[in-house]
Amino acid sequence: MGDRGPEGGLFAYSELCPPSPFPLVFSGGIGQSGLLPCTPLAIRCLITAGPTREFFDPVRFVSNPSTGKMGFAIAAAAKAAGWTVDLVSGPVALPEPAGVMLYPVVTADEMLRQTDALFGPCDVLIMTAAVSDWRPKVMHPQKLKKDGTGLTVEFEPVPDILATLAQRRRPDQLLVGFAAETENVEANALAKLDRKGIDLVAANSVAGPDGAFGNELNRLILLGHDGFRHALGPATKAVVAEQLIAALIARLAAPTR
Ligand code: C5P
Repeated sequence: MGDRGPEGGLFAYSELCPPSPFPLVFSGGIGQSGLLPCTPLAIRCLITAGPTREFFDPVRFVSNPSTGKMGFAIAAAAKAAGWTVDLVSGPVALPEPAGVMLYPVVTADEMLRQTDALFGPCDVLIMTAAVSDWRPKVMHPQKLKKDGTGLTVEFEPVPDILATLAQRRRPDQLLVGFAAETENVEANALAKLDRKGIDLVAANSVAGPDGAFGNELNRLILLGHDGFRHALGPATKAVVAEQLIAALIARLAAPTR
């Protein structure tokens, strides 16, 4: 379940961290790839990672094979670049990256509420989470009993977290989505830019044994409006993460996004 505040609700940003000061203090984060440039400490980044789970009884759920490795690697790279990092993650078996504020959640609704609470002060949002797109319409309060017959579960869509947040974005925020695709990877990824109201999308093949889910290596193509295209990897997820943060630092400095 998500981190709970004193009243049992999810923590809001303001309850956990003071507002970030905005002096241009520079760090010399270098990271594994040697690619990370110095960057202002004042950048606050919100990252989502891992899968979400949608239960239809107390012990059974629908989810996907996301391990959270890419999102956690991006959180570590952002921290190494000197950014302040909030990481909202579904259930994963990964150690908390040092110096990063981790907010564990389970369902898409919890992820939406937690990211919504943290979105206002963030400068960069990177949504790597593999949100379970549908949830069972009915959550049975008790464990369903097997009776030797099949089971039909009716699903409904979960809210689109990225599109919801993008509706109240500020123009100075940089919004980055991920597109896990099994076919027509770049075309499907590009379609998400307008559909979700975001600035950049990282196209990520999840097809076959070389697909991104659970693998140590990854390869991304960062796509933007007006034909922006930047290939990252193939390399370890740690190195791809540093390449991504380096690309975002360049993008933040560019006059148009
Ligand atoms: O719609 P699709 O799942 O293909 O889009 C992927 C991107 O949208 C990812 O960045 C993912 O984190 C985000 N997403 C979301 N809410 C959903 C589904 C996906 O924010 N319900």
